[in-house]
Amino acid sequence: LLEAKGLRKSYRGKVVLDGLDLVVAEHDVVCLIGASGSGKSTLLRCLNLLETIEDGIITFDGREISDPLVDPRSVRREIGMVFQAYNLFPHLSVLDNCTLAQVRVHGVAKDEAADRARQLLARFGLADKADAHPDALSGGQQQRVALVRAMCTRPRLLLLDEITAALDPELVGEVLEIVRAEAEAGTTLVLATHEMSFAREVATKVCFLDGGRVLEQGPPEQLFGDPVEERTRAFLARVR
Ligand code: ATP
Ligand code: MG
Repeated sequence: LLEAKGLRKSYRGKVVLDGLDLVVAEHDVVCLIGASGSGKSTLLRCLNLLETIEDGIITFDGREISDPLVDPRSVRREIGMVFQAYNLFPHLSVLDNCTLAQVRVHGVAKDEAADRARQLLARFGLADKADAHPDALSGGQQQRVALVRAMCTRPRLLLLDEITAALDPELVGEVLEIVRAEAEAGTTLVLATHEMSFAREVATKVCFLDGGRVLEQGPPEQLFGDPVEERTRAFLARVR
């Protein structure tokens, strides 16, 4: 579905992505792990065209989206992203947060957008929050709404950046449940996470980022159970 080849990105001369390659197949759940500063967020932002790359190619569904002539909005219609800090619109109700992009960006009829949103909100235990404003919700609830909002537009690929990092530990579970359900429903996912136990459970493939590249990748059993690279072993020993 998505292929990145030789991605290069630096900030003020500091190389962050150094010829990084990544392949994401349809229905994959790819977990990006690696030390803080290893470039996980930068990679996700590049895939969603929130950053420009200095070198390399990104193809999505056979189309070269890293071509400067490609309209990023056309890409973001199919590639959704949810960030660490849930960026809900504070002045809109939960329901309106979830219908806005459907109506404005995807041209879905208002009723249909609301139906879809209510259905997903109900599925994730948020039915009674549809008319609430984000500031009346807990952090976990807000993050669940942010996920529902992203899923409302039926993205073919969903990028998730540390979506549980800002949450109290007891709220992490409910957000991870949604991710797991979405993965089981067949959405292709790429997520950056520090939750190794979660990566182990949901990932079809785990990629360890180090030195601006994917140093090692494989199915979770292999990457966590029997990593080949010394640096992968050292990282895992540190986070466990
Ligand atoms: P974390 O696990 O802490 O989220 P990460 O793997 O997501 O880390 P990135 O946020 O991608 O890491 O950052 C990679 C490197 O790029 C870091 O050294 C960071 O300081 C630098 N960086 C990221 N964004 C910018 C920016 N907008 N301007 C300058 N430097 C940046
Ligand atoms: Mg990050």
